Amino acid sequence: MPDDAGLQALREAARFSPDNLPLRRHLAAQLLAQGYLAEAEAEYRAALLLAPKDPDISAGLAEAFVRQSAFGAALSALEPFLAAPGYPPRMGVIAARALLGEGDGTGAAYRYRDAVSRDPSLADPDLAARLAPPPPPAQPPAPGQPDHAQPYGHGRPYGQPYQPYAPPQPVHAPPGVDQSTAEVERPPVTFADVAGMEAVKESLRVKLLLPVQQPELFAAYGKRSGGGVLLYGPPGAGKTHLARAAAGELGASFVNVGLADILDMYVGSSERNLRATFEMARRNRPCVLFFDEVDALAARRSDMRQAHTRQLVNQFLAELDGVDEHANEGVLVLAATNAPWYIDVAFRRPGRFDQLVFVPPPDTAARAAILRILCRDKPLAEMDFDAVARVTEQFVGADLKGVVDRAVEAKLHQSISAGRPLPMSTPDLLAAAQTVRPTSVREWLATARNYVLHANESGAWDELMPWIKGGKW
Ligand code: ADP
Repeated sequence: MPDDAGLQALREAARFSPDNLPLRRHLAAQLLAQGYLAEAEAEYRAALLLAPKDPDISAGLAEAFVRQSAFGAALSALEPFLAAPGYPPRMGVIAARALLGEGDGTGAAYRYRDAVSRDPSLADPDLAARLAPPPPPAQPPAPGQPDHAQPYGHGRPYGQPYQPYAPPQPVHAPPGVDQSTAEVERPPVTFADVAGMEAVKESLRVKLLLPVQQPELFAAYGKRSGGGVLLYGPPGAGKTHLARAAAGELGASFVNVGLADILDMYVGSSERNLRATFEMARRNRPCVLFFDEVDALAARRSDMRQAHTRQLVNQFLAELDGVDEHANEGVLVLAATNAPWYIDVAFRRPGRFDQLVFVPPPDTAARAAILRILCRDKPLAEMDFDAVARVTEQFVGADLKGVVDRAVEAKLHQSISAGRPLPMSTPDLLAAAQTVRPTSVREWLATARNYVLHANESGAWDELMPWIKGGKW
């Protein structure tokens, strides 16, 4: 570690080369290590302007915040990364400290355990001692009973319910123009870009695509198009990818709605955002309107503590129904969730999300097909995708994407050293696979099992049953 004079030299050097990212990153890390927290924060902020998506810089910034007790700011810095499966474990530990600082012991414990299970060298006995004990295995809630007692903020895992945003005091929004922050895309991908999932694609074809592509046929049978589909399954299994591909297949526009596009701190604003988002989809029809993490917007009303959060669910139901039967014509509503058991049953009525589709983790053949698609436009030498699929047994699509991204990165470095482009081959993917820790699908299935095993009278979870009864994973 540099002494004060060394640090001063680094500061000087950074002043003379403000765009030198490695230097700024190094200076920021040294400042943090030596406890110059405000200065470290400023350095990390400057570095972040040079590399906005760099996880190390965001982690450093978050740590600087935590050590200054700015816990909310730390969580904001980490949030974009924590949402993705396989986020850097160091971030999980920093998030645990921040959540603990905010009084969310359960959330902190979850993050800490997840991080340390992936990187045991991060274990911190002092922090561990301050965390909540491991939760007992989740039990299905008793009928009519809220099944949770703790609000859950950042990093809500699929085993934890979403607590709809609930400011302590209702605050009314300043007047303004209603407009959606979600963006309209024209996806270049189609079902040909989605490997495997033949059954899922087929049911989407019948449900979403055929009524639009062949309306006469449906009319002849007196069937009206409409109604949405709820995709559920473990994180990273390809729900978003599938929804985007459905839009591409249909030649429709695609609106990907995240929680940040809807949830707002002001009473009434979230409802207005939702309405504006539906309006935007209607203006862009044919349109696939996709709600990610929909359990947050469509949670069971019986679980909600505050009346105004129930309003959002009511607004969502009203938008799905439309003011008249033509309101949502040409708007296909798809939604995805890792925690379908939290969704209010009212959403499953006809014309709303009346079809539940399980997006399963990929089997060996599907993993090979996913890898083939992910490597399609890369320079390749001999490549045995089946061999890679065999060693990536627990991996979902997002994990496989991580493998390919890492292999590409390594190949790029080698190509730079060699001074010529080198094609990727099987050993490159095998080596990258060693460095990626897969999403815990088993954990997801265990949670799912607790919720649905004894709650399948309606047959809603039929597709999931073979997976949670064992044998399939
Ligand atoms: P989810 O929405 O279920 O969390 P995503 O759709 O974000 O998962 O999947 C992450 C990435 O994994 C996608 O962007 C895509 O590149 C890749 N992927 C997942 N499943 C598939 C698949 N079946 N075929 C091709 N790529 C896939």
